[in-house]
Amino acid sequence: MIQCFYKILSELLSHIQEITEQSYASIINNKSNKIRRMTKTLYLLQGHKFRNENIEATLACPKCEEIFKKEFPLDLEGQITEFKCPVCNSAREADLPSKGIELQEEFEYFPI
Ligand SMILES: [Zn+2]
Repeated sequence: MIQCFYKILSELLSHIQEITEQSYASIINNKSNKIRRMTKTLYLLQGHKFRNENIEATLACPKCEEIFKKEFPLDLEGQITEFKCPVCNSAREADLPSKGIELQEEFEYFPI
């Protein structure tokens, strides 16, 4: 009876370990995908301002190297959004900043 219990328990543990390894692998995959996307298809974020209703981002196009300003709805903060470069018209993605992260950074910068 006890042996049987241990057998089930050890099977369960190895199964959990397998799931954990799989999810680590998928996290690493997601990260390397994101890095690959950043180098190839992302506009470079030069600066940004959070307003009441939108985010104003200053972006540089990696293809034509023009710098332009564009406004995005606040709902898109922290997300990747695709649109065409207003200068050369090629479709690329922008990785928009998140207000939460910014507040955290400010908090770290000015310790109480
Ligand atoms: Zn462009």
